[in-house]
Amino acid sequence: MFKAIVIDKTGDRQQCAIRDVDEAELPGGDVTLRVEYSTVNYKDGLAITGKAPVVRKFPMVPGIDGAGVVTASAHSGCKAGDKVVLNGWGVGETHWGCLAQQARLKGDWLIALPAEFSTRQAMAIGTAGYTAMLCVRALEKHGVTPAQGEIVVTGAAGGVGSVAIALLAKLGYRVVASTGRLSAADYLKALGAAEVIDRATLSAPGKPLARERWAGAVDTVGSHTLANVCASMRYRGVVAACGLAAGMDFPASVAPFILRGVTLAGIDSVMAPRALRVEAWSRLARDLEAARLDTITREINLAAAIPAAAELLAGKVRGRLVVNVNA
Ligand code: NDP
Repeated sequence: MFKAIVIDKTGDRQQCAIRDVDEAELPGGDVTLRVEYSTVNYKDGLAITGKAPVVRKFPMVPGIDGAGVVTASAHSGCKAGDKVVLNGWGVGETHWGCLAQQARLKGDWLIALPAEFSTRQAMAIGTAGYTAMLCVRALEKHGVTPAQGEIVVTGAAGGVGSVAIALLAKLGYRVVASTGRLSAADYLKALGAAEVIDRATLSAPGKPLARERWAGAVDTVGSHTLANVCASMRYRGVVAACGLAAGMDFPASVAPFILRGVTLAGIDSVMAPRALRVEAWSRLARDLEAARLDTITREINLAAAIPAAAELLAGKVRGRLVVNVNA
């Protein structure tokens, strides 16, 4: 038996609680993992609270991320004793996830834990941090360099935003952090933000084109914020769009794209190909300072992950939550 958060549904009502689960109930898969740490991402928040239909079948163990030790494997890519990381692939949505002491997964989904990180640090990064790196890679691939100008990061005090700031600052970019929590300014500056702006300057309906300011952008917010960011990009600027914290809509015009040659790069972490994940994790190992990770991380136990989900969706969590599933 092992402990897991289990989401169930009776009629229209979703319940979520910690339960003792029998190993025999684990889903199919060729690798069994003793989970050491998991995390609460935005999507886990949606799954646990039921605020969006993230969970596709019930009962479901949430947890789109996990890091731990392989206890049994029929997959050629890993063996018992290996330390591995899992991000996404529909885990915690259609396949039981890692907010549990054990998980059964497909070996194809797993990547080796980089030697630079402990399992706890890997979950301090989690999908949020790996997505931040995918955004940074998108800016780089489209030719954005520190010499070209400022990068704006929206939803700055959240998980993706915090890691994106730390990464971009380390790479030499001048980073401007957009936040609704101006009280977090010292935190954002400690991560490497050169300037902090109020997210209200970007969240109201705006014009198709605004004053050119940003060479690059990492947007976790969507809606009017993404539209305003696009409208204020410099000529040939690049926006990496990964989030919808304010909404899934995109009330924009084509003006920035056809008049300023702006690139809108979509970022998906869930089904990203394996080679891209391996590259992103090796870049995280190179470009993310462990001290920065400590600044952004709060550790909680499995029981605390349930109320933390609602806190996260309410925008009250700063940085990243790491879940010690054995505490
Ligand atoms: P967090 O909850 O940690 O951070 C989101 C941040 O967005 C908040 O901290 C807040 O930042 C800001 N925010 C929240 N509500 C609003 C609002 N109504 N208007 C403007 N800003 C708001 O989430 P994550 O950082 O983990 O994820 C951010 C987004 O990215 C989510 O939408 C998530 O679904 C998405 N995502 C997408 C992935 C992909 O593969 N495409 C992968 C991972 C995440 P502040 O307080 O600084 O204003």
